[in-house]
Amino acid sequence: MLSVEGLRVTYASGRRRFDAVREVSFTVAPGETFGLVGESGCGKSTTGRALLRLVRPSAGRITFDGHDVAAFGRRTPQWYRRAVQVVFQDPLASLNPRMLVSQTLEQAVRAGGGDAKVAELLDQVGLAQKLAARYPYELSGGQRQRVAIARALSVGPRLVICDEAVSALDVSTQAQIIDLLTGLQKELGLSLLFISHDLAVVRQISHRVGVMYLGRLVETGPAEQVYREPRHPYTRMLLDAVPVPDPQTQRERRLGRARPLGEPASPLSPPSGCAFHPRCPIAIDACSAVDPPLRDGVLCHLEPKENA
Ligand code: SF4
Ligand code: MG
Repeated sequence: MLSVEGLRVTYASGRRRFDAVREVSFTVAPGETFGLVGESGCGKSTTGRALLRLVRPSAGRITFDGHDVAAFGRRTPQWYRRAVQVVFQDPLASLNPRMLVSQTLEQAVRAGGGDAKVAELLDQVGLAQKLAARYPYELSGGQRQRVAIARALSVGPRLVICDEAVSALDVSTQAQIIDLLTGLQKELGLSLLFISHDLAVVRQISHRVGVMYLGRLVETGPAEQVYREPRHPYTRMLLDAVPVPDPQTQRERRLGRARPLGEPASPLSPPSGCAFHPRCPIAIDACSAVDPPLRDGVLCHLEPKENA
């Protein structure tokens, strides 16, 4: 359904240009959840923004049901805007504070040219009908995120991009929203692109996972495989950083602060060769000089057996 091939997004920072995303390729099948995971600044959100046509790729190809998304021209066709929806991290920022929940949903339905009913939408996301007459600030974080999901559903999407959609919520609310998304996926056959820095959350919801580092996808595979037998040194480092259950470290992990091998380099000036080489415990000479090859979903000079 969705295919991303060799995606590159180049940003300008002053007079410098840098690739926020480079040679990123993956697919999302109908009814599938593809999880994109990595530290902040690795290009996950930029990838999502390219799919939403909020940024223009400098190379590569995005196709949706065989349609070349770059060929749409300046105006995104309505069918694509309906087909691909997004839920962001902070619904307070993405919901109009002066609009009642009912108005927000009605406006979304009208904009999409659909005929969904507010009552049905609230029902679908498990919100009480009386909340239709509330403003966003009168709702809890979880309720607001349910409104954001209802708004996405109001136009009948096929793919919903969830960009850190549960990252601001407490752990039990996270679990409820993930249950809701999983249920909606089964019921509606939705595909999800689930973007998060939180490995545990991505594992809960994803069928397949892609791990990003400084703009590149360094490992892609079935979620079970990636979590049980990570094949890229960076994936192993991320998984090793998931601490034992301890409230303090767990909080740090959720905030993405557990970085035992130092900070990633800046995407403005990524290291030569394999961008991970300054942090890689098993780097060889070639790693700092030569771009690593992509083999079976793993971007590394060493074979999985060699680098284990
Ligand atoms: Fe480590 Fe080299 Fe593989 Fe990069 S290419 S992950 S530096 S071993
Ligand atoms: Mg982001």
